[in-house]
Amino acid sequence: MVGAGLMGWQIALMCARAGYRVAQFDISPEALRNARERQAATLQEWAAQGRLGLLEASVEQPEIVLERIEHFADLASACATADMTIEAATERIEVKREIFRHLDMAAPREAILATNSSSIQSRRLADAVRFADRLCNFHFTNHPWLRPYVETMTCGATRDDVLDRAYRVGRSLGIASARVHGESQGFIHNYVWRQIKKAAMTLVDRGHASVEDVDRAVMIGLRCPLGPFQMMDRAGLDVMLDIERQWFAESGEERDRPPKVLEDLVSAGHLGVKSGRGFYRYPHPAFEEPGWLFGQNQQAKE
Ligand code: NAD
Repeated sequence: MVGAGLMGWQIALMCARAGYRVAQFDISPEALRNARERQAATLQEWAAQGRLGLLEASVEQPEIVLERIEHFADLASACATADMTIEAATERIEVKREIFRHLDMAAPREAILATNSSSIQSRRLADAVRFADRLCNFHFTNHPWLRPYVETMTCGATRDDVLDRAYRVGRSLGIASARVHGESQGFIHNYVWRQIKKAAMTLVDRGHASVEDVDRAVMIGLRCPLGPFQMMDRAGLDVMLDIERQWFAESGEERDRPPKVLEDLVSAGHLGVKSGRGFYRYPHPAFEEPGWLFGQNQQAKE
C-alpha cells in the first residue's frame, strides 16, 4: 500500500480485515503514525458494533487485524514480496509517475500495480513502467465500509487475467467490485457523480435554481439522503475544483470549464465543511433545521 493518507489507511484496513498481509509505505512518518491511530480506533469501533469480521461467524480481534498491517519507511522493502500494490498517494501525475517507476523495478514481475487515483487514468502512467500489462486503476470510494464499492479499469494494455485478479481482490474485501469496460474518464462512479455535480452547478450558474432547491429536488425526487451541494461541501470545494479543472484540461471543451459558482467560492476561501463555509454555513447548516427538506422552516420564518 503506497500512501497512508485518508484513502491509504482505509484501504489498508479493508485489506487487513479481509485477511491480507499489508505492507504500508508513506514518505511522511507522521502520516504512518496517524494511519496506525486511525486504523486502531476504527477497528475498536467495528468490534464494538460487531462488524469486525467479514463473515457472521467470524471472531477476529482488533489487534490481530492490526498486526497484519506492517509500516515501512522505504518503498523497495514494502513491495519486495507483494502480490498486488495499491497506490493512494497525492493526486499529482508527476508524483504518481515516480512511484510507479519505482514500483515497476522493485515489485515482483507478477505483482499487480494499481492506482486508486480519482481522476488520473492508468494509461497516463503506462510509460513510467516497463510492464504495463500489469498496470490498472483500482478505485475505491472514501470510507469503503460505508460506501462499499471498488472499480477496476484497464490502462489500455492490461492483461485480462490481471484485471480479473484485481476484480476478485475487490470482491474478497466483502464489497461490490465492478469492472469498467474499456476506458472511461471518471471510471463509473466518478463519471456519474461528475455529471450530477455539473448539472447541479449549471442550474445555479444560470440562475434557474437555488443551491437549496437543487438539493431538495435530488433528495426528494431521487430519494438520496444528501443533495449534491451537501456532498460537495463534505468532500471539499478545493478538491471539487481540482477535479473540474482536470476534466477541462483533458477535453479542452468550453462546456467542461469549471462552474463559476465553484470558482467564486474557492477564491473566497470557502472550501466547505472544513473551512466553516461552502455552499452552506457550518457547523449548523440550514439543511439540518427541522422542516428544511419541505421548506417548512422557510414558511415558519416568513
Ligand atoms: P491524502 O493527501 O490524504 O494522502 C496522500 C498521502 O500520500 C500523504 O500521506 C502523503 O504523504 C503521501 N505521499 C505523497 N507522495 C508520496 C510518495 N512519493 N510516496 C508515498 N507516499 C506519498 O490524499 P487521499 O485523499 O488519501 O488521496 C489519495 C489518492 O486517492 C489520490 O490519488 C486520490 O485521487 C484518491 N482518492 C481520494 C478519495 C477521497 O475522497 N479523498 C477517494 C477516492 C480516491
